[in-house]
Amino acid sequence: MLIKRIHHVATIAFAAIVATTSLRADGPASANESHIRATTPALQALVDESGERSPAFRALVEQINASDVVVYLKYYLFSPAGPDGRLIFVGTAGGRRYVMVQIGCLHTRVDEFAILAHELQHAAEVAAAPSIVDAASLAQHYATIGFVARQWQHGIAFETGAAKEAGSLVQQEIIESIRAEEAAARASHASAATARN
Ligand SMILES: [Zn+2]
Repeated sequence: MLIKRIHHVATIAFAAIVATTSLRADGPASANESHIRATTPALQALVDESGERSPAFRALVEQINASDVVVYLKYYLFSPAGPDGRLIFVGTAGGRRYVMVQIGCLHTRVDEFAILAHELQHAAEVAAAPSIVDAASLAQHYATIGFVARQWQHGIAFETGAAKEAGSLVQQEIIESIRAEEAAARASHASAATARN
């Protein structure tokens, strides 16, 4: 809880949360349609860069795209004691199951990569469990695959080891990719400087 850099705690809540986004039932899936729906350009950029830099992230997205789960991504301002991210089951319609992933505002970009991957691992866990069709069955499933991270008056939050691992792995792959790119840029800068001499 107090490890501030990344603390994924109340990730899955079945509290009565009103989703303010209006979700329509989609038509039949087309082969290339992404099931990850960013609701702001910044989040789309986060998804795109994660996919470019991290093989583990791409694998997660493939798993979700191959399923009936559609993920809406939103930024959300959690309270200071709140979680960094959260997945909420929104509903089912037209043969699809819809979940909402909220990414906490005010994090560094490098932490956003971890939070996004962590929550998409939860989305993949939902995708792998057809029995999840509402908040109650979500809680029931997570009681078997996860552990209670937090419990309070109006809800319960679950966590899984797999989500923590996915967040760390993707973040590490992205950091390595950025470092490699920076090293290559430095090397090409150095060789350009040499060529001028
Ligand atoms: Zn989690």
